[in-house]
Amino acid sequence: MTIVIALANQKGGVGKTTTAVNLGAGLAAAGKKVLIIDADAQGNATSGVGISKPDIEKDVYDVLINEVPMKETILQTQREGLDIVPATIQLSGAEIELTPQMARETRLREALNQVKSEYDFVLIDCPPSLGLITINAFTASDSILIPVQSEYYALEGLSQLLNTVELVKKHFNKDLKIEGVLLTMYDSRTNLGVQVKNEVQKYFEDEVYETVIPRNIRLSEAPSYGLPIIDYDAKSKGAQTYMQLVEEVLARHAK
Ligand code: ADP
Ligand code: MG
Repeated sequence: MTIVIALANQKGGVGKTTTAVNLGAGLAAAGKKVLIIDADAQGNATSGVGISKPDIEKDVYDVLINEVPMKETILQTQREGLDIVPATIQLSGAEIELTPQMARETRLREALNQVKSEYDFVLIDCPPSLGLITINAFTASDSILIPVQSEYYALEGLSQLLNTVELVKKHFNKDLKIEGVLLTMYDSRTNLGVQVKNEVQKYFEDEVYETVIPRNIRLSEAPSYGLPIIDYDAKSKGAQTYMQLVEEVLARHAK
C-alpha cells in the first residue's frame, strides 16, 4: 500500500521543503521507494535533490494543465530509491489556469493514481498558500504533515489550514487525516522554543512528533549542493533528527 503525504502550511519558510527532501531521502535510505512531487513554483524541492533546469523536460505543470502522464515527468535522483516530479516557475500560472477547468481539484490524484503503485511513499511539497494546487495535493493524499516553525505566532493560520482540510474531506477525500505535526527550527536554548513546543502540544496533542528538528546550519547549506542532509553531512544534528523522524513515521505506519 502506498502512503501519500502532503507537506503543508500556508506560511512560507517553516520547513516544508526541507522536510519533504530529508524525510524523502531518509525513507529511501531505509529501503523504501519514494516519490517527491514538487508542487511549489519555487522548485526548491527539485533543486534540493540535485535536479537543475536543463534536466527538466516536463514538469508538474504539464501534469496539471496539459494532462501529460505523470510517468513522463518523473526523474531519478542520485539517492537510490528517491524519484521526483519536478516543478519550475511555469507552475506559478497554474493556479489561475486551473480555475475554469473541469475536474480541477482532482487532477493530481488522477495523475498520481497511474504511478503510485510503484512507490511506498509519495511526499507532496505544497506551496505556501491554500489555493487550488494545495487542494489538489490534499485531494491526492492520505494525510497531511504540518511543519510548524518554533517561533512566535507558530499556531497563527493553522485554523485556516484545518478548515481547508475539512473542506477537502467534505467534498473530495473523506478519509484525509493529519499525519503529524513537526516542530522545526527549534532552539532549546531559548524560553520561546520551549513555550512554542508546549503550545503546539496543547493544541495538537499526540499528533505532535516526539522528534523535534533543531535549527541547524548544515540543513540550510545542503540545498545549495543539491543534496539531502544525509548525503551532505550525515553526522550533523539535522541528519540525525531527520533520521529519527523517519523512524517515527515508519513506526506510526507499522501499527
Ligand atoms: P518552506 O518550504 O516551508 O518555505 P523551507 O524548507 O524552504 O521552508 O525552509 C526555509 C529556509 O529555512 C530554507 O532556507 C531552509 O534551508 C532553512 N531551514 C529549514 N529548516 C531548517 C533548520 N532546521 N535549520 C536551519 N535552517 C533551516
Ligand atoms: Mg517550500
